[in-house]
Amino acid sequence: MEIVHTVRRMREIADESCARGKVTGLVPTMGALHAGHFSLVRAAQAESSRVVVSIFVNPKQFWPNEDFENYPRSFEKDVVALESLGVDHVFAPSVGEMYPAGFSTAVSLEGLSERLEGRSRPGHFHGVATVVLKLFEIVRPSFAYFGRKDAQQLRIIEQMTKDLNLGVRIVPCAIVREPDGLALSSRNACLNPRERQAATALYRALDRARRRVSQGEVNTKQLIQDVEQTIGEEDTASLEYAEIVETSDFLPAEQLRNSCLLLIAAIVGCTRLIDNALIERKEGSFQVTL
Ligand code: AMP
Repeated sequence: MEIVHTVRRMREIADESCARGKVTGLVPTMGALHAGHFSLVRAAQAESSRVVVSIFVNPKQFWPNEDFENYPRSFEKDVVALESLGVDHVFAPSVGEMYPAGFSTAVSLEGLSERLEGRSRPGHFHGVATVVLKLFEIVRPSFAYFGRKDAQQLRIIEQMTKDLNLGVRIVPCAIVREPDGLALSSRNACLNPRERQAATALYRALDRARRRVSQGEVNTKQLIQDVEQTIGEEDTASLEYAEIVETSDFLPAEQLRNSCLLLIAAIVGCTRLIDNALIERKEGSFQVTL
């Protein structure tokens, strides 16, 4: 496994892969890797002849008061894990390598990037879209793997890829959870034991909605009230938003429709967590995937 720190070397590898007709799968990450990331790597290995995992904590997707400096980092450990999984290349550029002096371009998507996460974290998705576009240009993958855990990010990357004819197939991957339901996240490492316990409220809220939907509830206001109640019962958790939106445009849905997402963001202690459930109409009834 080669660890690549420069754009130039990564480009050489990409050119050589293209010349040899290799199919490259890219898994973009910010490191502090866990089983959720590894599931993306395995999905990539199943379809690609060469797998590149990028590790880059992207300052442009954090805004000034956020946790860029304190974001968990475990580069040595990540490299050992990726090596044992049989990954071909780790692309780990420095901030200066990705954003040299004078860098001034930002990719912005209208509408989609301003709602929900974009409203809570202004500029976040510009940073995400910009870095992903750069990674696509540098690594030149045929496939790129993104977790459904970051549902709005996934939708934005799909839209950007389509709008700009990037020719990369975006592969959505299922959310990997702890046995008690908490979605794996690098930020979970910031939770103390009491907060770790409280953090399960996000999953419990989604699971409660799943049960309500299976009993025939289609009124989204009612479903959201249930979420608010479940999170409200936890002292250390405060809900930032809970919304049910159409998967296509992330606009609020009053009733459940063919494909919706129930999205939650909550602060547990000092840690901001997100989670979601996909609600789809299948054979006349709604099914909820957590
Ligand atoms: P991050 O390192 O947090 O930027 O995440 C890198 C990729 O891993 C993104 O596509 C995430 O959606 C995905 N990911 C993070 N957590 C999970 C999880 N629990 N299950 C599946 N994918 C995940």
